[in-house]
Amino acid sequence: MNDERKIALETSKGCRHYAMCKIDSLNTGVCPSGRKNHFVSYYPQGLMDITAAFLEERIPVTPGLLHAAAECTMCGICDLQCHFVTGLRPLQAISFLKAELEELKKRGLEMEEPPEDSFLKELREITGERFSTSDPAHLIAYSNDPCPVSRETLPGYVTLPENTGQLAEVVKLCGRNGIPYSVRGNGSSVMGFVLSSGVVIDTARMRTMSFDTANRSVTVGAGISSMELQREARKLGFRVNAAEPSALYCANVMCSGIFSLFSSSLGTGLDNIIDAEFVKDDGEVTRLSRQNGPNPCAFQKGGAPAPGICSRAVVRLYPVCDSESAIAVPFGSMDEAVKYARELNRLGIGLGIGVLGTEYLGAFLAPTAKLGETLRKLFKHDLEINCMVLVLGNRFHLNAAAELAPFVLEQDMIRALTLGAASLAKCGISSVLHGLDGDEPAYAAMAEPGMITLVEAALEPSPESLAGEVEGDLREKYQELYAGNDITDIMWLNDFRIISSRMGRDGHVVAFILYVPLDDPSLAETVHERFALLAEENELRGDFGFLTPMNMGSMGVLEWDMYLDHTDPEQVQRGRRAMGEAGAMIEKLKELDPRILFIGSVFNQGFCRKESFLHHNALLIDE
Ligand SMILES: Cc1cc2nc3c(=O)[nH]c(=O)nc-3n(C[C@H](O)[C@H](O)[C@H](O)COP(=O)(O)OP(=O)(O)OC[C@H]3O[C@@H](n4cnc5c(N)ncnc54)[C@H](O)[C@@H]3O)c2cc1C
Ligand code: SF4
Repeated sequence: MNDERKIALETSKGCRHYAMCKIDSLNTGVCPSGRKNHFVSYYPQGLMDITAAFLEERIPVTPGLLHAAAECTMCGICDLQCHFVTGLRPLQAISFLKAELEELKKRGLEMEEPPEDSFLKELREITGERFSTSDPAHLIAYSNDPCPVSRETLPGYVTLPENTGQLAEVVKLCGRNGIPYSVRGNGSSVMGFVLSSGVVIDTARMRTMSFDTANRSVTVGAGISSMELQREARKLGFRVNAAEPSALYCANVMCSGIFSLFSSSLGTGLDNIIDAEFVKDDGEVTRLSRQNGPNPCAFQKGGAPAPGICSRAVVRLYPVCDSESAIAVPFGSMDEAVKYARELNRLGIGLGIGVLGTEYLGAFLAPTAKLGETLRKLFKHDLEINCMVLVLGNRFHLNAAAELAPFVLEQDMIRALTLGAASLAKCGISSVLHGLDGDEPAYAAMAEPGMITLVEAALEPSPESLAGEVEGDLREKYQELYAGNDITDIMWLNDFRIISSRMGRDGHVVAFILYVPLDDPSLAETVHERFALLAEENELRGDFGFLTPMNMGSMGVLEWDMYLDHTDPEQVQRGRRAMGEAGAMIEKLKELDPRILFIGSVFNQGFCRKESFLHHNALLIDE
């Protein structure tokens, strides 16, 4: 295999499907071909699947394949976006695909027409000719994800309704013909949920967004991402409770209820929803606010089907205050960090709170995987940091949080450490802490008054020095990115979360999420230890991700992550085994404390009141 083909194949198969190329994550625009044509097959995410399938001769040359490749303008927007989170460069792969197709054309290309039938005809009557297809090139882009337990499933059709009426007609048509369907947002849940052998209904065209600031609400269509929603809300002086920027907002509520650091004050699930419209399985349109509509209190611990496809939701807006910022509070032990975070939440301090592990700290701060790994070690071993508690809030929150904290790193120190990360990795922490040895842990010195001056003198933090870590041709773009204030502003980064998918940069991330009681903070550590053992037994890299206290410190949402190369069959096998064993392990954890709840129980029930799942053991049962 020649080098170009090898790179194209490795890159295209390496796509994590986190959909960060489907949003304007870096303020550099969005794939023009994707925005114009809407199917995922026109975005780099889908083009990667198409490229891999074409190079492995798994799809024929069809009009869909030629069109998807031709519509790419080679603008390069995706190259920076994808490199920023995964280190991959999709442009090389797309360029190779285009060149191969040109070569085929010269040699007299044989093209296969996609199958057409009466069902496709009826779909097209609903959505318009362009927006329903059975072309294998488009279908392949909807057929898989990197999760170890997902099985490639080629749908028969993909359809993109534009509004609730069309969506309801599609659902009725599937029902009349006995054809199964799945609904897909941006496909970044990466657990096989959006795959179907029948029809994939992609909500990408349902792009309505209408603000009603007098009623502190925004009505958001199923095709709007959290990034777009947050950006528009911020222009009006508000924020929404959002998590992953590439997740479509309605999909995220349905899937997980949306949890983030802001869940400590803004909650999750129905806390942020005023009303929502659903298309039920029989095509009937209903809404939460109807007397006989879906009942958000009816949480089923054993799981429940979705109340329907959420076509739009009315979402709460929260005012943003001028003095909002963040502090970071380092801890040598997880136990102490959890106690501190719980106490803040119990006292109602902070807009957002998160206990972060060193895995996240390294991955989030560094623009490359290599630097991330060095920082991870440096935080853990040299600075003796086990966990860092991030507190987001206005100046009153932050003053109170600082008063209760043993040591505090202010926003300017975090910016200096981010922009000085490359020097820190090169020179080591002793260059900064020189002469400050004492009985306190090393991180304590970082919180000394006036330390920022020493750090700045030793590390000479700058966008140039950080960008120097990145491959030559992208260096200038990184420099421009890091010259802006947003990207080192912890509050902004939590509102927009453009760096959180960097957690999957070293390999696809399999996230295990649990709601855990916090009255005994050592339970969180026990959960961490059990997962660490499970990862070790399955020879997978993994670590504690984050914990956010909720509900006045009574519960926390805890994420533990395992990482694997989803293109390596052996690692996939181990990942599958670990996921299977995790189920049994979580059952054992529930024997320790039956209040523990695995996020899988909330799947499809994200529109529930959080009280009904956080206090699931207190629900009344039929006598
Ligand atoms: C790196 C990473 C980090 C993440 N971190 C977080 C986090 O911190 N907090 C959090 O809450 N989530 C997190 N997630 C999970 C992810 O954001 C959610 O799964 C979200 O739903 C993905 O949005 P999507 O549009 O890609 O949904 P999809 O993957 O397209 O769909 C998710 C599910 O919702 C269903 N669905 C889609 N649209 C609709 C609709 N309109 N009506 C009804 N059902 C629908 C799908 O059938 C599927 O079951 C993370 C995921 C990744 C990859
Ligand atoms: S290079 Fe092609 S695929 Fe990438 S953003 Fe531009 S048009 Fe989209």
